[in-house]
Amino acid sequence: MITAKKVLLVFLPTDSGVDGARSLYTEKEKHPLSQWIGSSMRNLIKKSPFSIPPLSLMILGSIEIPGVEQFFCDMRFEEFPAEIPWDLVGISVQTGMARQAFELADRLRQKGITVALGGAHITLFADSSRPHADILVHGEADDLWRQVLLDLKTGTMHADYRSDNFPDMGIPRPVSKTMLLKNRYFTTNLIQTGRGCPYQCDFCNVHVLNGHTLRRRNIADIVAEVNRFKLHDKRIFFFVDDSINADPVYARELFRQLIPCGINWFGQATTTLGQQPELLETFARSGCQALLVGIESIEPKSREAHRKTQNRATELSSAIRNIRNAGISLYGSFIYGLDGDTLDTPSAILDFISETKLDVPGINILRPIPGTRVFERLKEEGRLLFDPLDITAYRYTFGQEMLYLPKNIPLDAFVESYATLTSKVFTLGASFKRGFAAPSAKTGVLLFNLFYTYLYGLSRHDLSRQIEKGQKKTILPYRE
Ligand code: SF4
Repeated sequence: MITAKKVLLVFLPTDSGVDGARSLYTEKEKHPLSQWIGSSMRNLIKKSPFSIPPLSLMILGSIEIPGVEQFFCDMRFEEFPAEIPWDLVGISVQTGMARQAFELADRLRQKGITVALGGAHITLFADSSRPHADILVHGEADDLWRQVLLDLKTGTMHADYRSDNFPDMGIPRPVSKTMLLKNRYFTTNLIQTGRGCPYQCDFCNVHVLNGHTLRRRNIADIVAEVNRFKLHDKRIFFFVDDSINADPVYARELFRQLIPCGINWFGQATTTLGQQPELLETFARSGCQALLVGIESIEPKSREAHRKTQNRATELSSAIRNIRNAGISLYGSFIYGLDGDTLDTPSAILDFISETKLDVPGINILRPIPGTRVFERLKEEGRLLFDPLDITAYRYTFGQEMLYLPKNIPLDAFVESYATLTSKVFTLGASFKRGFAAPSAKTGVLLFNLFYTYLYGLSRHDLSRQIEKGQKKTILPYRE
């Protein structure tokens, strides 16, 4: 009897808020009470609205090849199943967890297990990833992974799998959730309607990885997927597209057809939605409860410097009010520390939050991701604080460390002003106030604000430790 080839798809944790952020300076957490609070909060956050399965691996795990069995290991929740003789292990690699991915890959390969690496980091940094893998999958893997599995069966695998074109999203690729343990996650109802982004924000790698052209799935396939997913999991749906309203005509037709499904959903949109009244009404009628919008900056100079051009700063407030008036709660994400920002920016952000009554403000520091334009520019300008080639340096943390020098503000003054800003925005009182005032998803809004009150406390602690430590040896930009 021929036994099926066993393939394991692996997703790794990061040090981020998503996986339960921890202090980068553990020596301050030695008191048993603070250790207990820290670990309880991490566990709570892990099991809260943050925990969703990785859609990319769900898509790959749904590919069916006779003679190949695929399994999934989410190492945020479980150990690597070392007792099984895997024929192939595929690891999804993001830059924030590349070190952990490479260490695992090296250990497995020493035991003779074939390892395939894919994901954003591999696509952008294939050469430095090469020593850690038998197989590299470059770019969007929807079709390439099918070929890897076919070649595994016939023993003809190659070192590289790549395609000159992005996958055609119009081809139906039904996503299966049978690999997932449903109760581990806040929801398993993840839907992607398309890929690509026509905008060019310089701190973002979406357009670098997925191209500038919007590629859309067929509406009928998405409606069928929503109805199928609903039978397995009745919880909220999350549309993971970066801008669900980027193509308003398509979005309006899609969500019009989803109205009879009777779902509740979250998604990510641009604030332009506030100026698209028919689409906004359709979103509300189709069950939209909350949206994440990337405000990024209310400073016109910063928006210009970082190519955030899709909506104007002057239109943001009215757009946000319109969306909230339609009964949709808003998570508004800011970045403080952009190139047009000054020490006056925090009070402008505070005024903006109170004027618009944003339900969940997210106040991020610019995180230069390797592979983005802003990363290259900061490198050229000598403003990075760590070796650009050190993949462990550009990990994702919850605003806990500065990776670069702001343009107009000295580093220590910047950190102090960021700490003052977050301590004013996130308090227990403000969390409850926002939770009660939210137009929908009130519990989610309250929980997010409470978690952020804890997480931004961690951010203030770690940033001040970085500055303290830096002052002992003076933080200087990295020089080659
Ligand atoms: S930040 Fe959003 S709008 Fe800007 S390029 Fe990235 S995905 Fe597109």
